Amino acid sequence: MTDNSDGSDPADEEFPIGDGTASTEAEVTCPYCGEITEIALDPGSGNEQEYVEDCPVCCRPWQVMVNYRGDGSASVELTALDEESDE
Ligand SMILES: [Zn+2]
Repeated sequence: MTDNSDGSDPADEEFPIGDGTASTEAEVTCPYCGEITEIALDPGSGNEQEYVEDCPVCCRPWQVMVNYRGDGSASVELTALDEESDE
């Protein structure tokens, strides 16, 4: 265990996107309460992801859409799930 000091390990396949520079977190603004918060991303789940996550501040549900670009940076969009039911 003395070599491998130059970091060029050919078996480094942990990130499917780019070369290990994929974003693992993103700063988002809650569409309900307006709080800026950081959410964790999972680059291993694919280039395009869509899931529901609750705001850690006001606990209301977001529809989260994540798109990874070619350079591994993530574009994150939040939609308020409640908006569809306008009474
Ligand atoms: Zn909120």
